[in-house]
Amino acid sequence: MTLHWRLMGRDGAARAGVLSTAHGEVETPVFMPVGTAGTVKAMTADAVRATGARMVLGNTYHLMLRPGAERVARLGGLHGMMDWHGPILTDSGGFQVMSLSELRKLTEDGVTFRSHVDGTKHHLTPERSVAIQHLLDADVTMCLDECTPFPATEEQAAVSMRLSMRWAKRCREAFAPREGYGLFGIVQGSTYPALRAESVAALTAIGFEGYAVGGLAVGEGQAAMFDVLDCTCPLLPEASARYLMGVGTPADILGAVARGIDMFDCVIPTRSGRTGRVYTRRGVLNMRNARHADDTGPIDPECGCPACSRHSRGYLHHLIRAEEMLGPMLLTWHNIQYYQDLMRGIRAAILAGRLAAHAAALQAGWGGGTGTTEGHSEEAR
Ligand SMILES: [Zn+2]
Repeated sequence: MTLHWRLMGRDGAARAGVLSTAHGEVETPVFMPVGTAGTVKAMTADAVRATGARMVLGNTYHLMLRPGAERVARLGGLHGMMDWHGPILTDSGGFQVMSLSELRKLTEDGVTFRSHVDGTKHHLTPERSVAIQHLLDADVTMCLDECTPFPATEEQAAVSMRLSMRWAKRCREAFAPREGYGLFGIVQGSTYPALRAESVAALTAIGFEGYAVGGLAVGEGQAAMFDVLDCTCPLLPEASARYLMGVGTPADILGAVARGIDMFDCVIPTRSGRTGRVYTRRGVLNMRNARHADDTGPIDPECGCPACSRHSRGYLHHLIRAEEMLGPMLLTWHNIQYYQDLMRGIRAAILAGRLAAHAAALQAGWGGGTGTTEGHSEEAR
C-alpha cells in the first residue's frame, strides 16, 4: 500500500480521519498553508509548525521555473530545502500554467508555455509533472489536469474534463508507487452533475490514493460550489481522502467539511495577512483601518499567536501602515493560527457528533454572515 487515510469518526457526511504519509500522520479535516515557491510567505518553517499546521502545499509551476526541480532535489528535496519535515502536497502545475504563463498552447500531449519569470519556453506533460513532483519529493502528487475555465458550456466542460481523464491515466502509469507516497486524481466537470459523475467514474476505474475536487473557487460562487460537492462527494470512495483544491474562506471550509471534504489549501490566510486583513472568531478585520490606531486590545483575545498574545491592534495597525516587514509576518502568523484553530475545533466537533451546533456557533461569531463577504468585517468586536 502506498498512502493511507483512515476514518476515525463521522457526523452526517462530515468525516474525521488520519492521513498517513512518508513524513508523518496528519489529522483531517486539514488545512494546508500554501508554500508557493518553497516558503510559506513571511513565515519560517518553525513558525508554521507552531500554529499546529502539519502539512503544507508546494507549487510545481513556480518550483520548476525557479529554482528548478532538479536543483530542489540536489538541495535535499522540498522537505530538506524548506526545513519542513512534515508531509507536503504539490499541485501539478496545470492551474498556474493556465493562470500565470504566457503564450500557452494546449494539445493532447500536454501544454507548452512561456515562463512568466524570464520568458523561457517549457513543455509540461502528465509524465513530466509527475517526474517533477517526484524530484520535489511530494508525499501527495497531484495529476496534471486542465482547470476548466468558468463559465463553460456543457460541451466545453466535457471536452476539457475528458482530456483531464486521459491525462490522469497517464499520470497513474508514470507514478512510481512508494510506501507513504500517493497520487490523487482530480474530478472535473464544471457545474454539470452528469459530467462530475462521469469524471468520478473515470478516476475510480483507474484508482487513486485520494480524490480531489477541482475546477471550483474560480468564480462560480459558494452556492454553486456546494451544489457540486453535494452531487460529487457521495460518489467518491468512502475509504480515500477527499481534497477540495484552492478553497477557501472559513465559511467555505465549514460547508465543505459538512459535505464530506477532508483536505483544503488556499492562499487566503497568507495573502490576506500580507495586506492587513485578518480572520477572527468575530469576523474579518482590516488592520489598515484608522479605527485600530489607538486600540490597546488584541486582534482576537482567544488566539494564542504572537500577534494576539504580545501586541495591540494599535501596534499592528502602525506596522502595516508604515509598511514594516514585521506587520505582514505577524498577521500571516495570526491568520494561519486562526485557520488551524478552526480546523481543530471542527474536527473535535465531528468526533463529538455536534458539528451542526458548532457550525451555528461559528457562524454567529462571524456576524451571522457567510464569512465569504467582507460586509460585516469592521463590525466585529
Ligand atoms: Zn492571533
